[in-house]
Amino acid sequence: MNPASQHAARSRFGFLPQLAVATAMVLAGAVARGADEPAPPRIIVFGAHPDDCELEAGGTAALWAKKGYKVKFVSVTNGDIGHHEMAGAILARRRTAEVKRCAEILGIETEVLDIHDGELLPTLENRRTITRKIREWKADVVIAHRPNDYHPDHRYTGILVQDAAFMVIVPSFCPDTPSLRKNPVFLYTEDDFKKPNPFAPDVVVPIDSVLDQKIACIDALESQFYEWNPWLSGALDKVPADKAGRLAFTRGWVSGRQTQIANRFRAKLVEQLGAEGRGVKYAEAFEVCEYGSRPSREELMRLFPFAGPK
Ligand SMILES: [Zn+2]
Repeated sequence: MNPASQHAARSRFGFLPQLAVATAMVLAGAVARGADEPAPPRIIVFGAHPDDCELEAGGTAALWAKKGYKVKFVSVTNGDIGHHEMAGAILARRRTAEVKRCAEILGIETEVLDIHDGELLPTLENRRTITRKIREWKADVVIAHRPNDYHPDHRYTGILVQDAAFMVIVPSFCPDTPSLRKNPVFLYTEDDFKKPNPFAPDVVVPIDSVLDQKIACIDALESQFYEWNPWLSGALDKVPADKAGRLAFTRGWVSGRQTQIANRFRAKLVEQLGAEGRGVKYAEAFEVCEYGSRPSREELMRLFPFAGPK
């Protein structure tokens, strides 16, 4: 189906009916799983660098993992220039080891692609790579940056994932990797860029119950959050030297960051959770992409079961 006919096939509810039915069948099976029932939903998150997926979706990944959903983080570049004192293969290896530790903490899988940091481009080769990764993971959900982010690697990660959103179901594109029969749901991670359009969440995830896991995950990204980012902001002298002090330092800013997201999207939390939404302290947020499968509200809440009423 080409994009024009795909568009024409959308119902007035804004999604493809046949894909919606297929999604509902998979998700219904995941809720009450038996011996011959479908496997749990599979989620793949693309970030430009070895810390982006963890920062934007670490809490939600921990919640999915607890429910038995299969989650994979992919860093599209190897992060080999993200430091003020080291670079190249040594830094790439260090950052890969850091996200592997994060994956253990969150209960997920992780991969770092060997593309130089700061040099990602939306090439045909990279489109093929991203398409294959989504197919190999047999993804039901794909998450990435919006393509109007500040960093060129973030922008092109967003573009590459958008470019793969239709190609994943086209059998003759990358015929070496079996195409998906069902187009996944694609979503963007939260940001606060305003032009050309601000981020508008379709689902806000309360992460209060897994905040400690997310903090432990960010604490494991030492090269970034105790070295590179503080150096960039001129605050290297504010970073505590001891382990306990560093953890408290990370707790402070991660808590503040996720509180800001919960407060910014409070109305959405109340819409999703009723009065309970007013008490949520920490959140992550996602916006449905216009490409790929367009989920109904009900389907979205099945994919994010911790974001709706219990
Ligand atoms: Zn980044």
